[in-house]
Amino acid sequence: MNGNPSTTTRTHPCGAINTGLVGDTVRLAGWAARIRDLGGVTFVDLRDRWGEVQVVCEDGQPLELAHSFKLESVLAIEGEVRPRPDGMVNQDKATGAVEVVARKAEILNPCAPLPFQMDHIENVDEELRLRYRYLQLRHAELSHNLKVRHLAAQAARRFLSERDFLEVETPLLIKTTPEGARDYVVPSRIHHGQFYALPQSPQLYKQILMASGIDRYFQLARCLRDEDLRKDRQPEHTQIDLEMSFVGESDIYALVEELMATVFAEAAGINLATPFPRMRYDDAMNQYGSDKPDLRFGHPIYPVDDLVPGCGFGVFESALESGGTVRCLRAPQLASYSRKKVDELEAFVKKRGLAGLARVKATADGFDTGVAKFLGPEFQQKLHARLGCQEGDLVLFGAGPAKKVLQALGDLRVELATREGWIPEDSWAFAWVHDFPLFEQDEKTGGWTACHHMFTQPQDRYLESLEDDPGAVRAQLYDLVCNGVELGSGSIRIHRRDLQERVFSLVGMDAEEYEAKFGFFLEALGFGAPPHGGIALGLDRIIMLLCGAPSLREVIAFPKTTLAASPLDRSPGPISEAQLEELNLQIVPKANDEGDDR
Ligand code: ASP
Repeated sequence: MNGNPSTTTRTHPCGAINTGLVGDTVRLAGWAARIRDLGGVTFVDLRDRWGEVQVVCEDGQPLELAHSFKLESVLAIEGEVRPRPDGMVNQDKATGAVEVVARKAEILNPCAPLPFQMDHIENVDEELRLRYRYLQLRHAELSHNLKVRHLAAQAARRFLSERDFLEVETPLLIKTTPEGARDYVVPSRIHHGQFYALPQSPQLYKQILMASGIDRYFQLARCLRDEDLRKDRQPEHTQIDLEMSFVGESDIYALVEELMATVFAEAAGINLATPFPRMRYDDAMNQYGSDKPDLRFGHPIYPVDDLVPGCGFGVFESALESGGTVRCLRAPQLASYSRKKVDELEAFVKKRGLAGLARVKATADGFDTGVAKFLGPEFQQKLHARLGCQEGDLVLFGAGPAKKVLQALGDLRVELATREGWIPEDSWAFAWVHDFPLFEQDEKTGGWTACHHMFTQPQDRYLESLEDDPGAVRAQLYDLVCNGVELGSGSIRIHRRDLQERVFSLVGMDAEEYEAKFGFFLEALGFGAPPHGGIALGLDRIIMLLCGAPSLREVIAFPKTTLAASPLDRSPGPISEAQLEELNLQIVPKANDEGDDR
């Protein structure tokens, strides 16, 4: 090598140094991940995206320079690959059988004192980690997640392109696409007092693309939703968004099953069994207390109502009399659960609005302890048979309004499974949940709102009677769920203007309002929009599952905090007086201005 290592290109990535290169001279560059300065010799673990290799500075210029190496500085090394001495081989590392003896070394860029210890980054406050996100991204786990993300995106693009889909970019500055969240808005400089919305999804545009004859569209679409703050929510997310003309529900299921199988195989080497099972919404709610059931394990919720009349237990009987329900869970062989543990479970369901958690223990042919003394023999015998009880099982009851009971027992089912290890590792329980209601009633106003969005086609048999009983109408609407996570949601769409107007009216808009908000869209439907349907799959959630990541923040390069802020670039931030003036905007201080929306 002539001159400094930095003046010449690298010969290998750090992670590619192996026994096959022993005796070769290599040029490497990377970050000093660990430095062990033993005086007469300094060991440096040199890291790049492809891995780490041990560099030994044992004499001459490299040893002299090594005394001033700082962690995370960028180094260039030229040296010779040699086998590690006996007993020093590290089997856990791909490069663990070799080391590189430095002949020349250079510091390409020294690193400032680090804000935290790189090896203990998991203990560092989230805000601080995000501020120095580039340091965290040097870690193999995070760059691995980005790689899986890349592979998944490429697989999806290739798969859909091969099936004649066109990737079309829809605009970012739009009117609005309601998906149930608040819009982020952008003021217009040219149109004084007017605002664009950032898309909550490309919904209206993808439908207009169908009206345009594009027939098959997809996009890895950025969606922006100003939602209420919640743990692990991101204001920006990415969807694999697609739409097809002249299709029914089964066509979408078949396409998406193949798409998911391709993405899982190519991004993570996982073979999925297709087709995915289908489950009606009512069954999902009744059996699992959730419209995104975790089907990796059984232990469903059982109905009890039909056994309650005359059962002898006032709490159950009065729950039914006041229009509620009684349901139960069977926890196999958990009768030995201590009082304390069962009380914890009771506190868990109380937090979800139940009055309590009645419990009994199964004997060979009936129940004892807990509320068993109140339950008549016929009830006991029938319930025992229904649940297929074994001696030693614990049975837990929820009684009260159906929605609360099902949700609480559904959550309790997952809680028990997590505590007791009922969930098999590395299993992928996909399912389609379908046959959803089209509308739900707002508890406060009594008005109807769309369960998914207002563009969903009702099932044919309800078309005539939509307005008679909106609560009974079922939709051509489907969710893709996996391991208890909703991975996607979609529907067959309304493609006729008259029907779309009826749905707008049903959700409480008069003609003036829907013309003002969606006139352009109604017009497009009226000019010959074909029947069509589609889905959006949450790319971030898919990657989170594929990587086994605990949070969405682990699979997004530059995520926001739960307060929708970016500690890295300190956004959001104020704009200058000049910008405000140009936009004709004025900031009016809030009465109690604390600078955020908490
Ligand atoms: N636009 C919908 C959403 O983002 C998805 C769809 O219906 O295709 O949830």
